Amino acid sequence: MGPASARCLAVGLLAAVAVVPLQSTALREFLIAVVGVLSVVAIVVGVRVHRPVRRAPWYLLAAGVGCWALGDVLWAVVEHVLGSDAFPSVADYAYVLAYPVLAWGLALLSRPAGRTAGRDALLDALIVATTLGLVLWVFFIAPSWTDPEGTLLERVVGVAYPVGDVVLVTQLVRLMNARRRTPALVLLGAGFGLVLVADLLFQAGAYLPVLAADMGLIDPLWIAPYACWAAAALHPSMARAGDEPSGTALPLTVRRVAFLAGVSLVLPALVLIEAVLGVPLHSVEVMVAALPLIGFVLLRMLGLVHRMSQQARDLAHLAETDFLTGLENGRRLTARIEDALGGPDAGAPARGAALLLVGVERFAEINETLGLRTGDELLRAVAGRLVVAADADGVVARLGGEAFGVLLPGVRSGTRAVERAIDIRELFAEPFRLGEVTVSVDIAIGVALAPDDAADAGALLQRADVALSAARERRDLVARYAQQMETGGALTPQLMSELTSAMAENQVVVHFQPQVEISTGRVVGVEALVRWQHPEHGMLGPLAFVPAAERTGLIRALTLHVLDRTLAQAALWRAGGRTIPVSVNLSVRNLLDPHFVNDVRRALERHQIPATQLELEVTETMAMLDPARSLEVLGALDELGVMLSVDDYGTGYSSLAYLTRLPVRRLKIDRSFVAGLLDDDASAAIVRSTVELARHLGLAVVAEGVEDDATLLALRDMGCYAAQGFGLGRPTSADRIPAMLDAIETRVPGLVRERIPVQRTA
Ligand code: C2E
Ligand code: CA
Ligand code: CA
Repeated sequence: MGPASARCLAVGLLAAVAVVPLQSTALREFLIAVVGVLSVVAIVVGVRVHRPVRRAPWYLLAAGVGCWALGDVLWAVVEHVLGSDAFPSVADYAYVLAYPVLAWGLALLSRPAGRTAGRDALLDALIVATTLGLVLWVFFIAPSWTDPEGTLLERVVGVAYPVGDVVLVTQLVRLMNARRRTPALVLLGAGFGLVLVADLLFQAGAYLPVLAADMGLIDPLWIAPYACWAAAALHPSMARAGDEPSGTALPLTVRRVAFLAGVSLVLPALVLIEAVLGVPLHSVEVMVAALPLIGFVLLRMLGLVHRMSQQARDLAHLAETDFLTGLENGRRLTARIEDALGGPDAGAPARGAALLLVGVERFAEINETLGLRTGDELLRAVAGRLVVAADADGVVARLGGEAFGVLLPGVRSGTRAVERAIDIRELFAEPFRLGEVTVSVDIAIGVALAPDDAADAGALLQRADVALSAARERRDLVARYAQQMETGGALTPQLMSELTSAMAENQVVVHFQPQVEISTGRVVGVEALVRWQHPEHGMLGPLAFVPAAERTGLIRALTLHVLDRTLAQAALWRAGGRTIPVSVNLSVRNLLDPHFVNDVRRALERHQIPATQLELEVTETMAMLDPARSLEVLGALDELGVMLSVDDYGTGYSSLAYLTRLPVRRLKIDRSFVAGLLDDDASAAIVRSTVELARHLGLAVVAEGVEDDATLLALRDMGCYAAQGFGLGRPTSADRIPAMLDAIETRVPGLVRERIPVQRTA
């Protein structure tokens, strides 16, 4: 409590105690009047010092308290100077005037924020006021009003006191509903509570002979309120009194319910007590008061029921909403799929729908590089674009992580569904602006149809997920579910049966793609990329058969075949007087194969190629699969002298720090980052930070997918070691390699030496 406020309260309460032993009535009344006047001064000072947000209520309080203090002064003068005890006296007018002024001030102070809270607070106040009104009516108002001896003026003034009390109580209850119960508010409330008690006791004098004999007994109760109000106005918290946090409804606590119930019970209790005491019953009055009371209680209950049903609706909504994007969640999507499939009652005709499962490519890296906040923002932006893409007929849900579902009810044609998927992907060609950064993201879409591909929601989601994995392997990043995907591509079983003989017949060939040192423009090696010259299906890329070979175990033979062809070619180039280091891609199985190191050593020996001329590329996920076992093989290969690289860096989930525990020398940054380097800030940030970190860790960075000179120059400026891509040379057959290398080494050194600034295309 503020020191001024506390001191004022202490002095005031001391005065309240000091009044008790005083014998002279005149002295007592003088003391009360003095404290009252001081209280008014203190309130005005408080307003000046603390400058409350709302001043009017405080000035009204000062005026009301002033009326009271004036009443005290007049009373003392009339009684002791003029020696009159007429009723009503001038003092009574001052007293009575205080009630409306104070009530007005309290009303202004207790304006709760929000309509519901205001209504609830008013109802609570009315419930209390009705009950108190009845009690006052029965004991004070009715007797004064019907007093046959009183003049009209006497009766009016006599009734004005209890009526004023009811009005004050109403406002006091409203004030005490304040959520932010500051010391100033509590002191104010305490003051009014004490005054009300004093008022009631004073009026109860008519019934209680003890009191009537010595009204001086309640004198402390007249002084203490003045002290409380003065302390309230001097407390710093008065500046924000009545300044409520907005929005929420009044909480209905157990205490409040018990209080309101207790108040309502006063009515029947009154009649009951009267019946027990055998005095005349006030049944009619009680019933008249009960009507509005029941009305108020009903209104309060209706408000409560309304709020509860609202909350139930909100909760149901929350349970089906994705917190981050505000989209529906997987739970709701599942329900919608069931609906689209005709619902759980089997009698309904199955209607069908297409489910597009959307995955954001390389989201984990964007999140890691640009921070979780940007990641979240990106997800929200993606959600927004998907909603646009889904149109009016589709429903978009977030299924967690970077996966979204787009349900197209009524779409039953696979062609139509794939068309929609392609349309959606087109909407993502435009990069996202997220605050300061521009991020381009690609999405992959797996398509599954119900009931063609699956009969229930669970299966449909699972099939769409299979299709999404397949889509991620495809260049166009869209795939419709097909049963073969569960085992491999459509052609796969046939291709796998042919692969062994195809290798024997040299249908499986190796193309090479040059890797260029950026600072010099010199070729530092070529990567071997497998091709299958299929007599029926034409030239097949590795994606058509490598994944299946990995699953079926044929990969071991395939890798050794590629290694053998590649080393044979390297030996030919050596024989022709040109040393070209070669690099070969490995599969997981190779790293789990204890014989593999021996196979590599024997191949090197067979073709008389030093191990240092061979680079082996492993993807990070490969090394993660069984770290202990792959580490063993990698260690042995490293000892052999082979150079190990991490391929497709950035597409997996391992950190650079983890990779340094592997005996690798190079990082090949995946082309999805390099391709977007010039237009996409996220990609640029990822590449730049990777190059920098790698340099600290002693790793050389090779950028894949360099498609133009501008990208090459940007990489040069970042300090990247080497580049590979269509912009330098496409994968080509071995016989065309020497000419390609010559062309590169005449063109690129001049290019990278030029100090032209990099042009941004966007
Ligand atoms: P990779 O190891 O990342 O190989 C680079 C791929 O990127 C090659 O595709 C290459 O043609 C393509 N590429 C190179 N520069 C550019 C460019 O500037 N722009 C674009 N858009 N693409 C570029 P390819 O030959 O289809 O190989 C695909 C993947 O198949 C390889 O990715 C590799 O993971 C795997 N692979 C290829 N040969 C073998 C092999 O002998 N054994 C194993 N296990 N996997 C292989
Ligand atoms: Ca590779
Ligand atoms: Ca790669």
